[in-house]
Amino acid sequence: MAASSNGLGLKEQEKLEKIVDLYLKTGIAVHSAGYMGRQFSGVIPLAGIMDLVNSIVNQPSSFYEAAQLPNVVEEIMANELNQFIGWEPGQFAMVTTSGGSLGSLTALLAARNDRFPQMWSEGVSALKGQGRPAIAVGDAHYSISRAVGILGIGEEQIVRLPLNEKKQICLEKVRPTLEAAAQKGLNVFAMVASAGTTTQGAFDPLDQLADIAQEENIWLHVDGCHGASLLVCDQLRHKLKGIEKVDSFVWDTHKTMFLPGVCTLLFYKNKEKSYGAFQQNASYVFEKQPDIYTQFDRAQQNFECTKRPLIMNLWVTWSIYGRKLFADKLEYLCQLTQDAYQMLEEEADFQTIHDPEMNILCFRYLPSNLDEKALPDFQVTIRNRLKEEGTFFISKVNVDEKPCLRVVFMNHKIETAHFQLLLREIRKIGQEIIDKASRI
Ligand SMILES: *Cc1c(COP(=O)(O)O)cnc(C)c1O
Repeated sequence: MAASSNGLGLKEQEKLEKIVDLYLKTGIAVHSAGYMGRQFSGVIPLAGIMDLVNSIVNQPSSFYEAAQLPNVVEEIMANELNQFIGWEPGQFAMVTTSGGSLGSLTALLAARNDRFPQMWSEGVSALKGQGRPAIAVGDAHYSISRAVGILGIGEEQIVRLPLNEKKQICLEKVRPTLEAAAQKGLNVFAMVASAGTTTQGAFDPLDQLADIAQEENIWLHVDGCHGASLLVCDQLRHKLKGIEKVDSFVWDTHKTMFLPGVCTLLFYKNKEKSYGAFQQNASYVFEKQPDIYTQFDRAQQNFECTKRPLIMNLWVTWSIYGRKLFADKLEYLCQLTQDAYQMLEEEADFQTIHDPEMNILCFRYLPSNLDEKALPDFQVTIRNRLKEEGTFFISKVNVDEKPCLRVVFMNHKIETAHFQLLLREIRKIGQEIIDKASRI
């Protein structure tokens, strides 16, 4: 019976085809040049193949015993990527986590336990006469607020550092803001800066923030989920100047390293502190002499028990194609974003919001015949109509509390001509919306 020679009866095969078909039809076309919407990308095909191998080999990677290659490879990749950071070999640590949200939570837990070691066993009741634990943030991703909630810090203890017009943490205002927080009885133990904010891809001045953090004895964590990958680009690495001075940072390879979701790299400057997240006292770990195998175990540093061999997709693409694949893609996409920005600057009916730092660009369509009072949701309506039509997929975001359109270029097949087509489509839809409103 030919139909079942692959082990599937015809019926099962038909079902499978229908499921896959539905999956493709209802999903976002991440491999299409019209997809400019979000921070997940069309994946490097080889990484997708490795992901399939991972699923079938099925080796949970928190322990060397269960997944020898992934555990050793983590060490190899950590050293490989450290060439762009510059820490002393053996002194730093890299842990993989299932996403940047979990990575930042883990780092902030290590920071909290470092300042308030007794909280691990005694919880919040341990805190007497030390002030309320607090975290200072810039334009932080929502995962940071969640971490604050989970860690028992409480959202009310988030200290918002003022931003400048580029939406970076405003350096002059950091110390006065920290002082004001201390006056109010807050004990700021960590500061979260960004390398590539979600809203518009802004980079905080890490070099100077690290100096302030060191002087104030504050743990500096950097959310580089989106932007840390620029470390591999000779021309763009300068945006992360000072990264070697920060205490920890996260890097999502499933975003701008073009790998399947998920694989986050969590780096710590000080290896010993990486054991602090899930231990009351890091030195306990070192008193137990690890043997040549258990030294590769990551279970004490990561939250997951069963964990996918996250590193494999990165390692296989990196070892076969090398740094250049990633650097070329990123440099192309950042240049494309600059070109798109320049195009918008020349169009009278489009408003630019910022000079893009990376591959995220926010803008508004503001034709002269638009009555913004009559159509307050204009940008959002355009965005939703584009999504319904299906040729393009873009996102929307609020900047200074006002919605704007947002593109994230994640696919090197996108060219400026595609962006031109998008603008044409936005004009067409925008004018239809205005015409319809004026007829009412
Ligand atoms: C995507 C993103 C996150 C969340 O990371 P996940 O991997 O989706 O958990 C956090 N911060 C920034 C800046 C991001 O872009």
